[in-house]
Amino acid sequence: MGLRLHNTLTRSVADFIPLTPPQVSMYCCGPTVYDYGHIGNFRTFVFADLVRRHLAFRGFQVTHVMNITDVEDKILRRIRETGQELRDFTGRYTAAFLEDLTVLHCLSPHHLPRATDHIDGMLRLITRLMDRGIAYRAPDGSVYFSIERYRATERWPGCLCQYGQLVNLQVDDQRPTERVATDEYDKDNIADFALWKARVPDDGEVFWESPWGQGRPGWHIECSAMSMALLGDSFDLHLGGEDLAFPHHEDEIAQSEGSGGLNGGIHEGRRPFVQHWLHAAHLLVEGKKMSKSLGNFFTVRDLLGKGFAGREIRMLLLSAHYRETFNFTLAGLEGARTAVARIDECVDKLREKVTKASTTPSPNVLQAFTEALDDDLNVSRAWAVVFDWVRETNRALAAGEVDARRAANDLAAWDLIDSVFALGARPIGEVPAQIMALAEARDAAKKARDFAQSDSLRAQIRALGWLVEDTPKGPKLKPA
Ligand SMILES: [Zn+2]
Repeated sequence: MGLRLHNTLTRSVADFIPLTPPQVSMYCCGPTVYDYGHIGNFRTFVFADLVRRHLAFRGFQVTHVMNITDVEDKILRRIRETGQELRDFTGRYTAAFLEDLTVLHCLSPHHLPRATDHIDGMLRLITRLMDRGIAYRAPDGSVYFSIERYRATERWPGCLCQYGQLVNLQVDDQRPTERVATDEYDKDNIADFALWKARVPDDGEVFWESPWGQGRPGWHIECSAMSMALLGDSFDLHLGGEDLAFPHHEDEIAQSEGSGGLNGGIHEGRRPFVQHWLHAAHLLVEGKKMSKSLGNFFTVRDLLGKGFAGREIRMLLLSAHYRETFNFTLAGLEGARTAVARIDECVDKLREKVTKASTTPSPNVLQAFTEALDDDLNVSRAWAVVFDWVRETNRALAAGEVDARRAANDLAAWDLIDSVFALGARPIGEVPAQIMALAEARDAAKKARDFAQSDSLRAQIRALGWLVEDTPKGPKLKPA
C-alpha cells in the first residue's frame, strides 16, 4: 500500500501518483503580508509542512512553493494609513511570517515568490486570455475574466473549460467573498472577476504598466502565474485552507486552463493545471470563530507570550485530521504540553541507555506510523502509534528489558517519526524562549536532513549570542 490522499477535485481518497516520480511539485497559497499571521492561518501552513515532510519520509523529492501576496487591497490600505513604502511594509511582515514558520518547526519552502516579482507572468497570462476572447477590458480600464465566455470557448486539450470543478456550483451562484474592483457595474456579469485592476487615486504610487493601462493584478492571477512559473504548467499538489477553494482556487483553475498555461503546457501536455487538490479545514478557537472582539484571536506570538513553546503549538495543530474542523483551546495546548513532555521523558531515558547510534530502526512502530499517515494523513492514528510505543517502552524500561541495542533501534525509529511530526528535541538549560524556539527548529530541520536550514538556524542562534552543541541527550545551549 502506498500513500493515499483525498482529492478535492474528485471528492475521494485516491492513490497519490506524481507526474514524474520521485519528484513531487507542491504549491501552497501563502500569506497576505499586512499583519502577523493568526493561528488559523498557521493550521494550513503546518499542515503543508506535514504533507511535505511525509512525502520526503516516503522517499519523494519535494519542491515546495509558497507565494507571498505583497500587493492587495488590505496592504494598500495599511500603507496609505501609515505612509510607508510598499516593499518596506510587506518586507517587515514577510520576515515576521518566516520567523513564525520557523518557531512552528516548518521547513522553509524552497521558493517563496513575491507577487510583485511576477507581474510579467501575470501580464502574459492575461494577454493569452484576452487573445482567446475569455477576458475583456471594461470601460474603467480593468480587465475581467468572463466565466460565460470561458464555458462557451472551444476547448484546449487538457482544458475542461468547466467552472465549478472544486465545488459543485451553479454558475449563477453569488460570489460573496469575491474581491473585486470597486466599479462593479463595469463588469458584463456579476460573477466575473478582476484579472487586472485599473489604477485609482487610492493606489498611490503602487501600479504597473500594462497593455490595458496602469494598474495592479487581481489576487487570483497571482497564484496562477507564480505556481506555473516555478513548477511548470501542470503540477502535482496544490494546497490551501478550505476557505480558498472557492472562489480563489476555482478561479486559478479557470485562468490557468483557459490560458493553456503560462508556457502553453496545459494545451500541449493535455494535462490539467493541478493533479491533486488538498484543503485544510477551518480552525475554531475556544469553540468559536476567531475574532478580536471575542478575545479568542491568537497570533503565534501571543501564544509564545503565554509561555507555550513552538513544538507544543505544532503538536496541537497536528492533533486533528486536516479535513476536520478543529477546536483550538488553551486547555488543549496545556494537554499538548503534557503529551510532549511524556515523549521527551521516554526519549531521554532511551538516550541514557544508548552507547552508539543504530542504523536499524525498530520496524514495528515505524510501519504502523507509516500506514497511519499513508491513509490520507491520519494523524490521530499516527499519534496513537507513538503513545502506544511510549507506554510499551516505559513498561520495558521499568522491567529492565531495554538494552543499549534496543534503545538505539527505538531511538532511530523515533528520529524518523520525528522527521515528520517535527517536535524536535527539548533544548537543555535555562535559555530565553526565542533561542529555545530556534534551537528546537534547528533540531527538527536536522532530523529532516535539511542541513541548509539547520546551518542557517545555528548561525541565527550564534548571532543572538548562543552556541548550540549536539550531545547524546539532545542539543545543548550555552552562551557564546
Ligand atoms: Zn493562492
